[in-house]
Formats: sequence, structure tokens, C-alpha cells
Amino acid sequence: MEKLSNPKETIQVLQKHEFQFKKKFGQNFLIDPHVLDKIVDAAQITEDDFVLEIGPGIGTLTQYLCECARQVLAVEIDKNLIPILHETLSPYENVEVRNGDILKQDIREIAQTYNAGKPIKVVANLPYYITTPIIMELFESRVPLANVTVMVQKEVADRMKAQPGSKDCGALSLAVQYYAKPYIAAFVPPNCFMPRPKVGSAVIRLECREEAPVQVADETLMFRLIRASFNQRRKTLQNGIANSSELSFSKAQAAEAIEKAGLDANIRGEKLGLSEFAKLADLLAEESVNGGKK
Ligand code: SAM
Repeated sequence: MEKLSNPKETIQVLQKHEFQFKKKFGQNFLIDPHVLDKIVDAAQITEDDFVLEIGPGIGTLTQYLCECARQVLAVEIDKNLIPILHETLSPYENVEVRNGDILKQDIREIAQTYNAGKPIKVVANLPYYITTPIIMELFESRVPLANVTVMVQKEVADRMKAQPGSKDCGALSLAVQYYAKPYIAAFVPPNCFMPRPKVGSAVIRLECREEAPVQVADETLMFRLIRASFNQRRKTLQNGIANSSELSFSKAQAAEAIEKAGLDANIRGEKLGLSEFAKLADLLAEESVNGGKK
């Protein structure tokens, strides 16, 4: 059997199984061997590695992963794809296909079962409608991760890499950069997929950090502050904090912490980097210890 990266083979498999693409699952299958090589190279997979693939589709990328990893687990939500995957992956003995929603899997347990709890590699041509929840779930649930190599919408890759103060920087940028170092490996045009998406894409590797780049007493509070600042970009940081439904600080408390952090009283949250958010979180955590809303 020819590899699925040959578009003729993909068309043949789709026709044989009378497969109907489902927009709601973000189904755009890769049909370019160069892009598949780039993803596998970017993920730095060795024959000792266990790889978790999210959304294998008909198994195009999975075939490449099986050829360089020790073992692959591929989690696919669309049950109509499962018989197809069993057929296209039948030449490989080191792959297991699981039908399910990645957001409902216990990935810590997967790392434990398949990799003795050691850091795993995650690879995916992600369904764009849930890119951010998937990435955040991987990081926040403290799955042991070596790296995460994903195809995402180009704008999302730009945001993941954006520096504080730049227009692209948002809560996702700071969260990704707290947990990982992002490297863009390739830009991928729409004609590399079937069907063609309306947007350009990029392959990005998130190299997971062993140690966080800033120290903060309460990580959850820091991320609530970050979300409060970017959800209300036009407001000053003081107002953003005081208005957030996730936080319970008054404007006076916010103003005091901002002053103690050495920041301008009218500063907007979007100007801050991780170290400033960490400092502010530590100052506000002290405020909560010393009393409620003033
Ligand atoms: N990996 C294949 C490729 O590169 O050709 C398919 C990529 S396609 C962009 C995204 C895949 O993710 C689809 O097969 C889709 O059904 C699957 N998917 C969508 N939501 C999912 C979820 N929540 N959990 C697991 N798989 C999902």
C-alpha cells in the first residue's frame, strides 16, 4: 500500500469508505509529504519515544510517526474514522487507536501507562476549533511533557510566540511561554490539505520547560490576573483586576499592588510580561492574606 501522503492514495481510501468530512471536527487532512517530514523532524522523535497523536484522521501523520517512534497512541473523536485507521495502520505493530475526545482523556494516566510516567511527546495537526483548550489542558493538567509539536492556524502560532507589549501578545502567549519555549518550524499553505482550509497554517514546537521562567507563589492567581488583563484590553490594569469575575480585589487593592510593583497607575495589562504579572500576583496574594476587599 502507498503512503497516504500521496494524494491519490488518500482519495482512494476516502472513496472506498465513502467518507464524509465533518466541519464540526475541523477535518483537514494533510496531503503533502514535505510537510509531514517537517512535522516529524520538528518533533525530534527517536526510536525510544512514546508519542501521543491527537486527531489522526485517516492516519496520514500517524504512518510517519509509527516509522520513527517506539510506540504511538492515536486518539480520534470521529468513530467513522476508526475502521479506516485500522486499515491504513495495519502494517504497523507499534500503534494503538483510541476512539474518544482528547479533552476527556486522562493524559497523565496515558503517560504513566505507556511511558512509565516519563515525559511524552505530543504531535498533532490540530482541529483548529479547539486548539487553545487542548494546549492549555496539556499544560495545566501537569502532564509530563517533553515537547508538543502541532500544526495550528498561522495567527495562533504568531500569538504563541508574541512578546509582551506587541499587538499579538495575549493570555495564550504568556501561558505558552510560561510552560514552554516556542519554535516555529514551518509555514504551511492551504493547498497542503484536503479539503483546503481558508487560513494559512504553521507547525510550532513547544519545548517544555523543566523550570518555570518566573517564580510565583500562586500560579492560579497569576493566570487569573493575566486573563483579567487581556479580556479587557481597553481598560487600565486597575479596572481590569477590579472588574474580573475570577478575582475579588477592589480597585484600591489593585492600585496599591500596582504602585508597590513600581508600575504606572494607569498602565494597561497588555504592556506587562510574565515577571511583572508574577510580582503583582505575589503582592495581591499578600493583600488577600491581610484582609478582604477594601
Ligand atoms: N492528523 C490528520 C492529518 O494530519 O491528516 C487529521 C488532522 S484534522 C486537522 C483534525 C483531526 O482531529 C480530525 O481527524 C478530527 O476528527 C479530529 N478531532 C477533532 N476534535 C477532536 C477531539 N476533541 N479529540 C480527538 N480528535 C479530534
